[in-house]
Amino acid sequence: MSLINSLLNTVLSQAGQEVSRKEFLTMAGRGLAVGVAASTFASCQDKSGGEAAKAATPTTGTPASEVTASTVYTGPGGQQVPSSEAVSPPAKVPAGVDKPIELEAWKSDVDPKSGPTPTPLPPEQRVGYALVGLGHLTLEELLPAFGECKKSRPVALVSGSPEKLKKVAKQYGIKPESCYSYEDYDKLKDNAEVQVIYIVLPNSMHAEYTIRGAQAGKHILCEKPMANSAAECEAMIAACKKANRKLMIAYRIQYEPYNRLVRSMVRENKWGKTKYIQAQNSQSSANPDHWRHKKALAGGGALPDIGLYCLNTSRFLLGSEPTEVFAYSYSTPGNPLFKEVEEAMSWQMRFPGGILVDSITHYNTHDSRFYRVNGEKGWMHLNNAYAYTGQQLQTSHAEGPAKMQNQITISPANQFAAEMDHFSACVLEDKQPHTPGEEGLQDQRIMEAIYQSAREGRPVKLPPVSGTDVFRGPEPKENA
Ligand code: NAD
Repeated sequence: MSLINSLLNTVLSQAGQEVSRKEFLTMAGRGLAVGVAASTFASCQDKSGGEAAKAATPTTGTPASEVTASTVYTGPGGQQVPSSEAVSPPAKVPAGVDKPIELEAWKSDVDPKSGPTPTPLPPEQRVGYALVGLGHLTLEELLPAFGECKKSRPVALVSGSPEKLKKVAKQYGIKPESCYSYEDYDKLKDNAEVQVIYIVLPNSMHAEYTIRGAQAGKHILCEKPMANSAAECEAMIAACKKANRKLMIAYRIQYEPYNRLVRSMVRENKWGKTKYIQAQNSQSSANPDHWRHKKALAGGGALPDIGLYCLNTSRFLLGSEPTEVFAYSYSTPGNPLFKEVEEAMSWQMRFPGGILVDSITHYNTHDSRFYRVNGEKGWMHLNNAYAYTGQQLQTSHAEGPAKMQNQITISPANQFAAEMDHFSACVLEDKQPHTPGEEGLQDQRIMEAIYQSAREGRPVKLPPVSGTDVFRGPEPKENA
């Protein structure tokens, strides 16, 4: 039916006639209309690619169409019932794949507007990703998120488990020949479908797999924390530069709509100048054998794994860099979970302009992830700030005698899809990512100062950095 409708549109627009579809069908008879439409379709196909596509795809508003019921179906009582009148309401259908279809509006201004309709690239034009490591993050979040991507698709997998490779490849339509063991990692070089390698391995492996991936000629998206030392981060940046490949660190929060909204309110001093931020990211773990509890693999405990969100997000909100840190760490004596890595880290950061940031991260308390930005005239509190979903934004300010406390709700978005699509856009448009390697290196330097402060029991100064967002690339396009 939709093909016929589209062909009729073409016939009518080419004929330049002021006739409705109903009149046309009545005049010509449905069989004739289909015949005319089919011959137009054939003639469109004869035209060269671009011209034919132009002729077949309306670029301006399409009128409402009505098609008289012409068929019957057998109803629930066995009776013959005429089929419903199928209608295509007016819509704007721009030619470019990146331009959203604009559907007929029906909501009043009283309610929030829905976003534009998605503009996915055809699958074969999307950037191909190889995922390295089939653990929790890859299986639970990243592979499902590709379903919401518009510019990215999974095309290869790397794992030490042949069983996982076989099963996951089947689930996501990845070719068996695009499944690699760690030993075969460097063979990704020869897979032309792979443009990006996404490294989702224990932290200590990020540097090696980034460097080898860049040497294989692929762009690199690397999970946080970028690595276990600033020296490793520098080597990763240098390797990607040398290979002329892009490097992005997967700071999903910087692509998440609620966090981006808070940032814009901070930057425009919505509630006056920001004075201090309180941030917490805590969870509970139970398996001392997991790599997260081995110093050599994880680099540290709660701080690089989850405390990093408090650090990176504060820098992201403010756009400036801390000049000094002061920290305490704690690990319960005798607890095998914290034999090698810290259980908790509490630290304060001093930012330019006297802004103070107070953060705590813990590996041994119930899940709690929030921050509160305290301005001179009000605050913004983001609950579940660092969670995969469920952000809740509350603001408070005074109006006359009243304390106004508002809950702000916006459309959520899959952070992982947003982050991957941003990197794909950078690859397709040859742009620098918003969260490049330099952003990860700066966090690593600050974390090293935090550890030093906790060890030495004194504040540690950081080299002053002037300017705003100096370690970040251009802003991601909204709804990219
Ligand atoms: P995980 O333990 O669930 O998975 C790790 C994967 O690495 C597994 O498939 C494992 O087989 C593989 N691996 C290869 N060599 C290994 C080794 N020597 N020891 C252990 N595993 C080895 O871990 P995860 O939670 O998926 O975390 C992976 C990375 O992703 C980490 O860097 C972590 O910080 C990051 N991460 C990021 C987010 C986020 O929201 N951005 C969330 C979770 C994890």
